[in-house]
Amino acid sequence: MTLRGLRVLLTSGPTREPLDPVRYLTNASSGAMGFALAAEARRRGAKVTVVCGPVSLPAPKGVTVVPVVTALQMRRETLRRSRGAAVVIGAAAVADWRPARFSTRKLKRGAGRASLTLTPNPDIIKDAAARRLPGQVFVGFALETHRAAAYARRKLVRKGLDLVVANGPATLASGRIRATLVSRDGLKRLATAPKPRVARAILDEVSRLLERRARRAD
Ligand code: C5P
Repeated sequence: MTLRGLRVLLTSGPTREPLDPVRYLTNASSGAMGFALAAEARRRGAKVTVVCGPVSLPAPKGVTVVPVVTALQMRRETLRRSRGAAVVIGAAAVADWRPARFSTRKLKRGAGRASLTLTPNPDIIKDAAARRLPGQVFVGFALETHRAAAYARRKLVRKGLDLVVANGPATLASGRIRATLVSRDGLKRLATAPKPRVARAILDEVSRLLERRARRAD
C-alpha cells in the first residue's frame, strides 16, 4: 500500500552518553535497519523524518535527518514531532542508562578501581505512544537473546505499541535480520532476509494496521 502524503517518524542508530569531554557509553547499533525503513517509507510516498544518533552510514535520499547524540536529545526531538506523524517507529538502540554525572574535566586515571553510577534513560517510544492521537500507529523493536517473541508481546502491551519487531543480537553486526512481527493479532515469523526486504514486510504490516484504523474511523 502507498503511504503517499503520510508522515513517518523514525528513531535510529545508537545514542551516546558522555562521561566527560572525551569518553562516552554507547552500543553497536549501525542504524541500518532504521535507514532501510526510512528508504522504503520514502519509496512508498511518505514524508520521512529520522531522529538519528551518531552513525557512519549515509542517510537515504529524500529523507529528513535530525541528528542527535544523547537519549535525552533524541527524546526531545522525537516528542516534538510525534503528534504530527501517522506512523512512529522506534528503531534506535537507545542507551538504557547514562552516567549520573557528567564531568566537564577529563576524568583522571587513579591507581585503583573506578566505578560508574548510572541513571536510567526515559523510554522514548513509550513516552511517544502515551501521547498518541487517534489513528496513529506505533512500532518498536525488541532485541533479545532468548524468548524474543514472548518478551516482544510484553513490550507491545507495556509500551502501548501496535507492532513489535522481535529479533536477536546477530542483527546488530549484520545486513540481514531474522525477525518476528508481533501485533495484537498474533505472530508472523519472517525468514532471515536482508534488512531492506524486512523493511518491506514491516511496512506492509503497518499499512494493514493503518487501513484498519481508517475503516474503524468511518
Ligand atoms: O525495552 P527495550 O529497550 O528492549 O525496547 C526496545 C524498543 O524501545 C525499541 O523500539 C527502542 O527504539 C525503544 N526504546 C526507546 N527508548 C528507550 C529504550 C528503548 O525508545 N530508552
